[in-house]
Amino acid sequence: MDAGADRRGVVRLYDTARREVAPLDPGPVATLYSCGITPYDSAHLGHAQVYLTFDVLQRRLRDLGHETRCVRNVTDVDDDILRKARELGVHYLDLAAEEIARFDADMAALGLIAAWSEPRATSAIAEILTLIGSVLESGHAYQAGGAVYFDVTTFERFGALSHLDQPTMVAMAAEHGGNPDDPNKRNPLDFVLWQPSLPDEPSWESRWGPGRPGWHIECSALALRELGETVDVHGGGRDLVFPHHECETAQSESVTGRPFVRHWLHVGLVGLDGTKMSKSLGNLVFVGDLVKEWEPTAIRLALLHHHYRPDWEWTDEDMPRAAARLHAWRAASLGVAPPDAPDAGAPVADPGLDLVRSFLDDDLDTPGALAALDAEAAAGRSVVRGAGLLGVTL
Ligand SMILES: [Zn+2]
Repeated sequence: MDAGADRRGVVRLYDTARREVAPLDPGPVATLYSCGITPYDSAHLGHAQVYLTFDVLQRRLRDLGHETRCVRNVTDVDDDILRKARELGVHYLDLAAEEIARFDADMAALGLIAAWSEPRATSAIAEILTLIGSVLESGHAYQAGGAVYFDVTTFERFGALSHLDQPTMVAMAAEHGGNPDDPNKRNPLDFVLWQPSLPDEPSWESRWGPGRPGWHIECSALALRELGETVDVHGGGRDLVFPHHECETAQSESVTGRPFVRHWLHVGLVGLDGTKMSKSLGNLVFVGDLVKEWEPTAIRLALLHHHYRPDWEWTDEDMPRAAARLHAWRAASLGVAPPDAPDAGAPVADPGLDLVRSFLDDDLDTPGALAALDAEAAAGRSVVRGAGLLGVTL
C-alpha cells in the first residue's frame, strides 16, 4: 500500500487560454507536450527553465499516482538550422546530431526526467503531408505559388489563445518570420503549412510540389501522432504563444474538430543585463558552461528559486545563493533520519514533503516550496523527501 491518503491533492495551474489558475485533471495517464529545441546552438538557461518546469510538474503528477508521457520534439529542419548549417558549411543533420547530444547531456546533468519521446521533425514528413492534406480537404487551407497556406479567416477562434488583436498579431507574425507581405497570402496572418525549398535546402516530394514543412505544422503532426487528438498540457516558452501555439491550435482543431489542448503552460523568459536571453542578441548563459563551475544540483536549485511564470533576470547572485541553500539543506539532513511511517502502510508524516506538495499544487510555486524547506532545515529537520520531490538529491 502506498501513502496515497497523504498525497491527495489537485495541481492547480495557470492556463494561458483561460487566463486563470485552474485545476489540472488528467486521467491515469497525463499527456504533456513541450515544444523542443531547434538544434543549432547550445541550451541556455531559458531552455532549461522551460524543461525544468515540465519536469517538476511531472514529478508532482507522478507523486499523485499518474503516469506521465511528456513529448519533447526536435525541430531539425527550419530556417534557423538551415542558415547555421550553411554558415558552418556542414550538413544540417550533422549539426542537429551534435547539438541534440549536447542538449541531452545538459538536461541529464540537471536531473531532468528523460522525455517519453523525443521525435524529430524529419521523422514525421509522412504525417505532416497527411495532415496538410486533411487541412486542405477540410477547407481551411489553400495552395498558391507552390506553397500551402492556412486560411485564418476560416477559423473563428484564431487569437483566442493569445488574446491579441489583429494589428498586434500581424506585427508579431512579421517579427517571427511570418512574412505578412507574401503576395501569395490572402490574409497577412495566413501561415505556411508547406513551402518550396531554396535550391540548397532539403526538399521532399509532395502533392503540392517539392518543398519542406512550415514551422508550426510539425508540432501538430507530432502531437497527434504521439499523444492523440487532445493533449493535457502543452506549452513552452512564453514567446511561443503567438504565433506558434495559436497556429498549432488552428490547424489541429480544423482537422480533428476537438480541443487540441486542455491546459496551456507558458514559461517566462530569462533575461540577462535587462534583456531577454536570446541567440540573436548573444547574451546567453549556457548550461554547459555553468556545469563546469557548479554542481548541477545547485543549478537546478538556482532555477527553482524563480517562479516559472513571470520573466526574470539571471544575476551573479543566483549561483552562490543556490549553493549556500544546498549546503544548508545537506547540513540539516545529514545524519538526521527523515520522519518514519509509524506503521507499515501508514502515510509518511513528513511536514517538509507535505509543504512542497501544497506549494507545487498552487501553480507550481517552487519559490514557496524552497522557502518552506529553508525553514524546515533551519529548525533542524531533514528535508530529504521534500527536496526529492523537487528532483533535488541531497
Ligand atoms: Zn511546437
